Amino acid sequence: MKVVDCFKDRPVISFEVFPPRPGASEAALNRFYSSLDVLADLDPAYISVTYGAGGSDNHASTLRLCRYIKAHYGVETVPHLPGLEFTAETLPDYLDALTHAGVENVLALRGDLPATGQPHGPFQHASDLVTAVKAAGDFNIIGACYPDVHPEAPSLAVDVAHLKEKVAAGTSQLITQLFFENDHFYHFLDAVAEAGIAVPIQAGIMPVITAHMVERMATMCGVGLPQKFAKMMRHYADNKVALRDAGVAYAVDQIVDLLSEGVDGIHLYTMDNPIVTKRICSAIKTLI
Ligand code: FAD
Repeated sequence: MKVVDCFKDRPVISFEVFPPRPGASEAALNRFYSSLDVLADLDPAYISVTYGAGGSDNHASTLRLCRYIKAHYGVETVPHLPGLEFTAETLPDYLDALTHAGVENVLALRGDLPATGQPHGPFQHASDLVTAVKAAGDFNIIGACYPDVHPEAPSLAVDVAHLKEKVAAGTSQLITQLFFENDHFYHFLDAVAEAGIAVPIQAGIMPVITAHMVERMATMCGVGLPQKFAKMMRHYADNKVALRDAGVAYAVDQIVDLLSEGVDGIHLYTMDNPIVTKRICSAIKTLI
């Protein structure tokens, strides 16, 4: 099933998971698959599976997990596909393997820049990859977008102009980078609408699981931490459980506001954490 059809019944709730690391211990694998049982049981519209840059087993890990989720739970999957990891020769084989696994959707990304800071290969922008995937088969193509502006973009206007090219190339829906300030998202939606981009946009929400994780992600993704959020992290810095509870409350508060504004959907960055994801889903169950 093409997950763009889910937006007939908005709002769409979906999850992101990380595949286990290659060489993970048996205990870690057991933990991961138990978490996945819980996540699948929460009945998301789909589960997206990340593709970590650099490791040799990425192609296989992402594909294997997508196949497992579809076969084992009957939940639709969306593999992340970073263009910088592929060549014109390797991409068609990988897309064929996805098709054989019953995958009909991909999240087409550029990928993180290598240490040189220069993109390489045939897919230097996500729009190049979207064009290639569109030509290769019948995939529903999802793209990324940035309410806090992509760190390499000189301005929101330039970033949105590039986003418009990505959508014109064949992207049928978007997922935002994580953000902690809903007003930035609403401002971004205004700019997107003004540019004439009319595809569904899911808000990417990441609950705090640990302070270190959120700070790392926010720095890496160039995402601002609002004062209210930073104060909460400081106040509960020495109490992991309290910080997690406050993080769940903050994420729920963000989501309630987004739902009240009629958002197309929420994509939860679960960090493979079933407890936090379950608590958020229970809190918003009657609101969807
Ligand atoms: P693009 O759309 O190509 O945009 C990147 C930058 O280039 C922007 O500044 C844009 O304005 C600019 N740009 C775009 N087109 C042009 C053009 N024609 N000319 C000049 N400039 C242009 N990374 C991974 O490696 N693995 C993952 O699994 C992964 N999952 C992700 C999931 C989500 C939901 C998100 C939001 C990001 C994810 N990323 C992942 C990170 C992503 O690869 C980075 O954010 C990357 O820096 C940009 O990817 P993009 O697809 O948005 O690129």
